[in-house]
Amino acid sequence: MPVRATKRGAARVPFQTGADADVLICGASFAGLTVARELRSTGARVLVLDRYEIGERQTSACAAPTEWLRNLGLAASIRQTFGSLLVHTPAIERARWPLPWTFSTFDYKHLCELLFDQTGEAEFDTAKVESRTGNTVLTDRGEVSAPLIVDALGWRRVLGPGENFQPPDAPLSRGLEVHPAGTGDDLELWIDPRYVNAGYGWSFPARDEVRIGVGSFDPRDPVKQPTLRLVDDVGQEPKGYQGNWIPHRLRPATEDGVFFVGDSAGHCLPLTAEGIRTAFYFGVALGRELRAVVEGRQDRAAALGRYHAFSGSHRWKYEMIYAAQQSIRHLHGRPLDTLARVFTRRKISHWAFGHYLEIAPPQFAVPAPPAAVPAERAMAA
Ligand SMILES: Cc1cc2nc3c(=O)[nH]c(=O)nc-3n(C[C@H](O)[C@H](O)[C@H](O)COP(=O)(O)OP(=O)(O)OC[C@H]3O[C@@H](n4cnc5c(N)ncnc54)[C@H](O)[C@@H]3O)c2cc1C
Repeated sequence: MPVRATKRGAARVPFQTGADADVLICGASFAGLTVARELRSTGARVLVLDRYEIGERQTSACAAPTEWLRNLGLAASIRQTFGSLLVHTPAIERARWPLPWTFSTFDYKHLCELLFDQTGEAEFDTAKVESRTGNTVLTDRGEVSAPLIVDALGWRRVLGPGENFQPPDAPLSRGLEVHPAGTGDDLELWIDPRYVNAGYGWSFPARDEVRIGVGSFDPRDPVKQPTLRLVDDVGQEPKGYQGNWIPHRLRPATEDGVFFVGDSAGHCLPLTAEGIRTAFYFGVALGRELRAVVEGRQDRAAALGRYHAFSGSHRWKYEMIYAAQQSIRHLHGRPLDTLARVFTRRKISHWAFGHYLEIAPPQFAVPAPPAAVPAERAMAA
């Protein structure tokens, strides 16, 4: 049985009265921790909440562009790096798509710990976030208030006004994978209706384990049997299940005075379901806006407006990729085989993947802000 690190029941004592923060970040995964990282050395009280301990619950195959991981100082968490994608369709056994940049699989817990280390003086606590009224968030350990509230809680958008997003009617994809021990040399994709009609299967090696799964853009399509079929076809064992819902439409990045980032803002890219890089990207953007507020360079209203507009300016790119996602189920057969072959041409693949990376380019990441100078040293200087 896996050991739960998170404190439960009686071990979860209520928050002290007046557990207020300058910035309350709900969700301690890719998006939330990146926002906290950008607030390092501001002197603001930054409180990060998650129902699990940092890095305790992996929710993805954990592959991201290597340059993003390097630029954020997370390279130590990398497990394996790939310079191409190996694609399979029913008619094409192997189509190798060369990439102009590399993808790396990484260790989730290690990456989250590295990110949290870079937040400096941010505080972390476990609590299940339940709802919000104005600037007060209700958790299973009591209330916390803050003038700046970030929802980085993933696809449900828990802190939004009204009902949360719920499958199967919300615009959500679904993914399920297993993590058997094993090795491999390639990032592999199966675009094959024998597994899933609207979606794809994958196998992402990560040094001593392989992350194998199936994702569907249609939340009504089951993914368990397809995953088991793929696992069987590649001669692996279905060990260590994990799955989740994945938003595939951009949502408003601010609403009712709250900042949303990562999956809660629908920042995961449609078609590829790549949401880690974009959680970093919008997390950095939001962190910079909040930093300007706590440093007195802009007010909260300006941060809400600027961040909302920044996220919204990406809408047309998301809509274009969404259109490609919607067409996938109609392309099976000759059109998809042709596409798979065309992408084996270096020039075409490099052009397409180069533009794809530009949606959230790794240059956007900068080293973590420097650690705060202790007050005595600053006074003496
Ligand atoms: C099977 C699968 C494989 C994937 N593989 C990849 C991949 O290889 N590469 C890639 O780029 N993307 C991948 N994705 C998409 C990617 O996982 C998400 O887009 C990404 O995790 C979004 O990051 P986030 O920080 O916004 O949200 P999350 O990573 O979902 O983090 C949300 C955090 O909030 C916490 N939380 C949620 N609700 C509450 C609550 N009520 N109270 C307290 N805490 C709460 C959670 O514990 C979690 O820590 C995959 C998705 C799935 C389902």
